[in-house]
Amino acid sequence: MRRVGVATYPGAVLVIRADLVDEIMVHARAEHPHEACGMIAGAEGGDRPERFFRMTNAAKPTGDALAEEREQAQRELVLGEAHAEYQGERRSSLTYYTWDVKERLRAQREMDARDEWACVIYHSHTRSPAYPSQVDIDVASGPANDPRIHYVIVSTRPDAEPRVAGHDLRSFRIVDGVVTEEQVEVVETYMFAHTGADDVPDSV
Ligand SMILES: [Zn+2]
Repeated sequence: MRRVGVATYPGAVLVIRADLVDEIMVHARAEHPHEACGMIAGAEGGDRPERFFRMTNAAKPTGDALAEEREQAQRELVLGEAHAEYQGERRSSLTYYTWDVKERLRAQREMDARDEWACVIYHSHTRSPAYPSQVDIDVASGPANDPRIHYVIVSTRPDAEPRVAGHDLRSFRIVDGVVTEEQVEVVETYMFAHTGADDVPDSV
């Protein structure tokens, strides 16, 4: 596995606009009881989520039985024996999400063309708390391993705990199998938020 030399983020924080938090929650509630997933792009080299990408959970049933059977077989192959089931049930969009490959590539091309990157990757848990599952940790620690990514997880389960702006929303860095939770600061606008040295004006 690739080592990046960074495992913990003391004082790490996600600063995110309130309207983007709202978009995540609207999407998560619309998809419930299925898991919702998406990304928020920011300027390359920066740490500010700006542009929302609502993505399709490719594990969600489409009504095409043959395609679903194929997708389920592929899912079990990718997840391996250890993760093929969750609490005695075959993995489905109720307990799992995966990108639609074509849609993910299209979004990546769009971001590349605008010098953006996927600064936030979000998904929802509809039965479990807003904490990375072992599948989430394994996926984030695979070829996608990147210490800069903010992994936002929201929970829409009935007993969800309001943590951030009234929602069960948490943010994590996941690097080489190590999960570090970070603070979430919700702001109306980035204009007054201090997220790094770049924001310090040149003159006073
Ligand atoms: Zn998850």
